Amino acid sequence: VTGFESRHVAVLGLGRSGMTTARALQVGGAVPVCWDDNPEARARAEAEGFEIRDLMAPGGFGEIVSLIVSPGIPHLYPDPNKVVAAAWAAGVPVDNDIGLFFRSFGSGDWDYFDSPPRVVAVTGSNGKSTTSALIHHVLDAAGKKAQLAGNIGRGVLDIEPPEDGDVIVLELSSYQTDLARALTPDIAVFTNLTPDHLDRHGGKGGYFAAKRRLFAEGGPDRAVIGVDENEGRYLANQLSQGPGDDRVIRVSAAAKLTGPGWNVFARKGYLSEYRKGRQAGSIDLRAITGLPGAHNHQNACAAYAACRSLGLAPRVIEAAFQSFAGLPHRSQTIAEQGGIRFVNDSKATNVDSAEKALQAFSNIRWICGGLQKEGGLGPLQDALGSVKKAYVIGREAAGFALQLDGCEAEVCTTMAQAVAQAIKDAEPGDTVLLAPAAASFDQYDNFEQRGDDFAACVMAALGL
Ligand code: ADP
Repeated sequence: VTGFESRHVAVLGLGRSGMTTARALQVGGAVPVCWDDNPEARARAEAEGFEIRDLMAPGGFGEIVSLIVSPGIPHLYPDPNKVVAAAWAAGVPVDNDIGLFFRSFGSGDWDYFDSPPRVVAVTGSNGKSTTSALIHHVLDAAGKKAQLAGNIGRGVLDIEPPEDGDVIVLELSSYQTDLARALTPDIAVFTNLTPDHLDRHGGKGGYFAAKRRLFAEGGPDRAVIGVDENEGRYLANQLSQGPGDDRVIRVSAAAKLTGPGWNVFARKGYLSEYRKGRQAGSIDLRAITGLPGAHNHQNACAAYAACRSLGLAPRVIEAAFQSFAGLPHRSQTIAEQGGIRFVNDSKATNVDSAEKALQAFSNIRWICGGLQKEGGLGPLQDALGSVKKAYVIGREAAGFALQLDGCEAEVCTTMAQAVAQAIKDAEPGDTVLLAPAAASFDQYDNFEQRGDDFAACVMAALGL
């Protein structure tokens, strides 16, 4: 991190990203001043030799020129974090690691690069991880040096110093984009927008505003925008200079886009690229096993558009798609036995992603439930046609099951019980799908642990 030599910068939250931030500040010659409400976290930072200071104590913000907040700390809603509020009151700028990254990145002597490193940033409600991992995979397969960081992979201040022609692919959540004071990617990707995390952003407007910040005036050279919702259509229109402008690439998994600009869309399993009304590329996505379902076709279109922006040829992208294995816990086939497929989509923590998973498969034995998000199951009811039976887990399993009017539902409560019952009922051609439509925190530490438990239960039951 550059720009803070000999100056005091406060770091709030000393988890993985907070510690990385403190170290990066120190390497850049700043004086990190650390705080975490948790004494164990403070002890870890102290053991590394960092100054620990209670920022809420009188004079706590003395000498501090900026407060860096960890992404796990809600700063504004439902209530302002007390340290953040104190920083506002003291007139101290509040930022995060992403803001520090963009302030520092490219601020050195850039001239010695023949082709300066570029940053691709991916945001949206769903598909961020898949899209960013896919872009990274394609670049890697095409022989470009690429690094994956942000909300996925390593912390953004933990990456290797980039070299000539490198690409840095960042996955950014709304928590990260809303606080960052600098956000200047070369290529910005917006996958889609559905209601999620609304409590932390004070409603849908705040949530969209957080994501939109990536596309501010004077922003990216190129914007790849999913236009299957009104917000995406609005954003694409705002950024476009006119009908033939190719600063914006519009992406859709629903509509045939053949207008005058630059478009990439998927229909009936085919990806098509149209530029100035003419077809410029196509891929048969049905042959890509790592990207099943229309939602993944949307991710494929967004990744394709970003890679085309970086100068890769359609055939190179297609070849790389074929070797994409998919990400763990996202539409991941973990076993097949006796004609029954087992799919782990533990990452389906909200209604929209679970709906997409249900649409991607048929004859489903659906394991669902957990800590429900605001707004109920609403739109999911229309996707229950492909469900043979639901096996409901979670502490509130009975209440969850009552909301499912479109299919048979059995209250199983535990994963082991749900898997055992689903296997007992399953027939050849069925898919046993974990796509909870709920968060995992009532029974697990995180969605990864839930997905691992599903896999362990399946393996044990099948004797694998
Ligand atoms: P994110 O990083 O935005 O949470 P992931 O790629 O990890 O996105 O996918 C999260 C969940 O959303 C998974 O359950 C996945 O099946 C589903 N999903 C992935 N891509 C999309 C999409 N484009 N639209 C809707 N749901 C999606």
